[in-house]
Amino acid sequence: MSTFLENVKGFVEDAARTAKISDEVLARLKTPDRVLEFEIPVRMGDGSEKKFSAWRVQHNNALGPYKGGIRFHHESNLDEVKALGSLMTWKTSVVGLPYGGAKGAVAVDPRALSPRELEELSRGYVRGIWQEIGPQKDIPAPDVGTNAEIMDWMADEYAHLSGRREDAAFTGKSVGKGGSRGREIATGFGGYVILREYLKLQPTIYNPRNTTSAVPTESGHDRVAEVDIRGKLPPTVAIQGFGNVGAAIARTLSDHGFKITAISDSKGALYEPEGIDIKKVTDIKERTGIIDRAVCYSLGPSGEPCKVFTNEELLFLPVDILIPAALEEQITQENAEKIQAKVILEMANGPTSRQAEEILARRGIEVVPDILANSGGVVGSYFEWVQSREGKYWSEEEVLAKIDAKLTEAFAAVAAEKEKRSVSWRMAAYIRALTRVAEAIKKQ
Ligand code: NAD
Repeated sequence: MSTFLENVKGFVEDAARTAKISDEVLARLKTPDRVLEFEIPVRMGDGSEKKFSAWRVQHNNALGPYKGGIRFHHESNLDEVKALGSLMTWKTSVVGLPYGGAKGAVAVDPRALSPRELEELSRGYVRGIWQEIGPQKDIPAPDVGTNAEIMDWMADEYAHLSGRREDAAFTGKSVGKGGSRGREIATGFGGYVILREYLKLQPTIYNPRNTTSAVPTESGHDRVAEVDIRGKLPPTVAIQGFGNVGAAIARTLSDHGFKITAISDSKGALYEPEGIDIKKVTDIKERTGIIDRAVCYSLGPSGEPCKVFTNEELLFLPVDILIPAALEEQITQENAEKIQAKVILEMANGPTSRQAEEILARRGIEVVPDILANSGGVVGSYFEWVQSREGKYWSEEEVLAKIDAKLTEAFAAVAAEKEKRSVSWRMAAYIRALTRVAEAIKKQ
């Protein structure tokens, strides 16, 4: 069993013990309902045929249809999909959505495929699972290596095979193809909401050396009024990963007055203690696809080149908030002692191991867990699903306001659980999530 899957099962066991969930129910919670495993043939540009391994794991549907993203990554494997599927069950449960949990993946590097090959692969994936999915059965969405264009191809292929157009069968589609406004930034925006609520409980997290007041945003309102850090230094943030999630949370936090001092992607990391101009780096990344040394020269307000180093070193920077937003298993027993941040906001799924979390807890570093921190994505997907099913069309402001309300409520419930039981944020979130699912199982 992979260490990622072991970690997730370990968190589930720990929470089940505290929540006094029976062994029989626990056995069900640890085992996926169903695993689909298949191969996708793709005709490559050179005329050869290549086969790609693919999976869909439907973990649990006690609370509603299975829900979860599809990952295209060359290192994906069945254990990873099982772990991610399980996390989806806890995520949808902890935020109170009428969904279960699932996940899918294809072992492929999507950047190595031509657009035609990528489309063929995406449609081939749907051919492997279409009879097992649907708006009331299992609703896929984007994850690492997939995006709105891929969801559009998949939704189109599903309509083709099933003989009916069902926009609610996939979420994360482009706005012109039945997608929702706000979905693209939903995960990042949700991370900001959770962090904002967390910081309201941590008035001492910042060093109150400075008396600078909050800076107005472009839209004119006080950037950080909600966490009231006036009279203190803006919180500094390091973000690992600059994809769908990392770039969106970087933008949202920067808009709200946080100082992003470090970012990274799979090629390397940049550090600018004076704060990185996120809008500039986003433009460059969109144009060139990379963050590298050349980009570095134009980032900092000081006009000096910022520092370039490895993406693991980013984890050890002296910042207030560390945000892993790339892949799992980044903060481990081996490197947890070197972390200097005051809090870790897990925007990636599974970035911190169980052993690492014990070390962090001993050192007084709190971890806001993935199932809560990055749940804005699935909440945004839920509102897309509702709009698709009911023929509604909400503005981005409306969608973000709904996500904000849902997550604020979920955070308060987890905070109350944590207070009641004196446990970590992760255990509080898992206990709430498991309890809901266990109760639904008992009623079946
Ligand atoms: P993505 O493919 O858009 O981006 C991943 C980013 O991580 C890329 O910038 C890549 O270069 C970078 N990366 C990869 N390996 C790295 C490494 N070792 N160090 C630093 N950077 C590295 O994927 P995404 O959709 O942004 O997903 C990121 C994480 O967030 C995943 O764990 C995913 O499961 C989770 N997540 C995604 C969503 C969503 O809506 N897309 C929702 C919830 C959680």
